Amino acid sequence: MVSLVYHDYSGFSNSTTFGEAYQNFSQLTDLNWVEKVWASYYYYMNNDLFATGLLIFVLHEFMYFGRCLPWIIIDRIPYFRKYKIQDAKLPSEKEQWECFKSVLTSHFLVEAFPIWFFHPVCQRIGISFEVPFPSWTTIALHLSVFFVLEDAWHYWFHRGLHYGVFYKYIHKQHHRYAAPFGLTAEYAHPIEVMLLGFGTVGIPIVWCLITKNLHLFTVCSWITLRLFQAVDSHSGYEFPWSLHNFLPFWAGADHHDEHHHYFIGSYSSSFRWWDYFLDTEAGPKGKSDREKKMKIKAESKKTL
Ligand SMILES: [Zn+2]
Ligand SMILES: [Zn+2]
Repeated sequence: MVSLVYHDYSGFSNSTTFGEAYQNFSQLTDLNWVEKVWASYYYYMNNDLFATGLLIFVLHEFMYFGRCLPWIIIDRIPYFRKYKIQDAKLPSEKEQWECFKSVLTSHFLVEAFPIWFFHPVCQRIGISFEVPFPSWTTIALHLSVFFVLEDAWHYWFHRGLHYGVFYKYIHKQHHRYAAPFGLTAEYAHPIEVMLLGFGTVGIPIVWCLITKNLHLFTVCSWITLRLFQAVDSHSGYEFPWSLHNFLPFWAGADHHDEHHHYFIGSYSSSFRWWDYFLDTEAGPKGKSDREKKMKIKAESKKTL
C-alpha cells in the first residue's frame, strides 16, 4: 500500500531508496524543504503505522538525550559553576550514569509500546500527517494553546502528587534528586510518566477531537519544545540570559529548582501564573512575596 502522505503520485518515477523518493518530491514546487523530507520519509517507509511509531520514538530519544548533553558538558566546565543554582550540589558521574540507565529503561518499557498505537489514534481522530503542512501561524497558535493547557494540567496533577500517599508511592521517586540535573527531567515512577505525560500527549488528542484541526508535524514540534522545557527546567543553572529574565511569566530552571530544593510549592511546568495567583511559590522569595501580598491586603482592609 502506498503512503497516504500525499494524494497524487501519478508523475512519480519508481523509487526504492530514500534518495529516489526525495527526487520525486523535490519536483513538487509547492512543498518546502521540510515537507519534502517528511513526505519522502513516509513514501520510502511504505508503512505509515511503522513510520509514525519510529518517528515519534526516535524523535523522543534524540531530542531528550540530545538536549541533556550540553548540560552534562556544562557540569564538567568549572567556568559555569557560578551560574549553578545550588552551587555545592554538582551531580557525580555515577549519579548521572544511574539516572541515564533508569530513564532509558523506562523509555523502552513504559513508552515504546504505546507509541505504536499513535498512528491508529491519529487516523481515528483525524490528526493529519499529509503534506503540505498547515500555515506557520496555525502551528504557532496550536503550540501556544498546548503550552498553556499543559501547564494547567501539570500544575494540578503535580500538586496532587504531593498529597500523602500519592507522594509516598509515586512522586517520591522524582524527588530523589534535591538538586536536579537535565537527565532527571523524566526520572519518575511509571504512573507519574503516564499521568503527567497525558498533559503532553493527551491534550493535543483531545484538542483534535474537538476542533478536528491538527497536524502530526505540530505534535512533533510540540513534543520537542516540551522536552526542551522539561530538561532545561531541571538543568540546575540560572543564567543572566535565561528566558524568564526577558519573559517574566516563563518558569525556567530557577522556578523548578526551588521546587526540588524545598519539596513543596512551584508546581507548574512552563509558566509562573498558577503558582503566583494561588500563592504556592516555593522558597524564601515565594514566602516573602506571599507575606507582601498579605500585608497589602490587610492594609487595604484597614483603610476601608
Ligand atoms: Zn514535585
Ligand atoms: Zn522535577
